[in-house]
Amino acid sequence: MSFTLAIVGRPNVGKSTLFNRLVGKRLALVDDQPGVTRDLREGEAKLGDIRFTVIDTAGLENETDDSLPARMRRLTERAVDMADVCLFLIDARAGILPDDEVFTEILRKRADKVILAANKAEGVAADAGVMEAYALGLGEPLRISAEHGEGMNELYSALLPID
Ligand code: GDP
Ligand code: MG
Repeated sequence: MSFTLAIVGRPNVGKSTLFNRLVGKRLALVDDQPGVTRDLREGEAKLGDIRFTVIDTAGLENETDDSLPARMRRLTERAVDMADVCLFLIDARAGILPDDEVFTEILRKRADKVILAANKAEGVAADAGVMEAYALGLGEPLRISAEHGEGMNELYSALLPID
């Protein structure tokens, strides 16, 4: 049986980078500058011998006013409803920001289907951020680097029971 994984988290944590790595085609736009409005993007992912559908959440990048939490909530809840499991990404280099707390609040209600991952965790610069992620109360964060492909075995192990 296959499943659907939604990658959620605030802008710039590396969701599209991970989506591209899992899907293996450049279906999602990855950009350094905010400015392109996107929404939800689906692809067929492959990780080891597991195949699943992955959803990249975007479309929050243009929002800089206080409607951001409302839009975040809507988009994230939509992705969560579509998904069997959510991969909540935080940026281990940036540490936990207020927007990460907004996501945590949304996802806590569905904690049974949330996998927490600290992305950009390559190198020691990420250690403090990984420690902060523990404090979110969503379990032990996976240490991953979407850009460098690190932690993919651990992600595989976390997804195997769902497959
Ligand atoms: P999104 O807004 O969550 O989809 O984030 P993106 O995938 O667009 O990535 C935002 C920025 O973070 C880009 O400059 C990426 O190259 C960078 N990035 C993504 N993953 C990693 C990672 O594992 N390590 C580092 N150092 N940078 C990353
Ligand atoms: Mg993106």
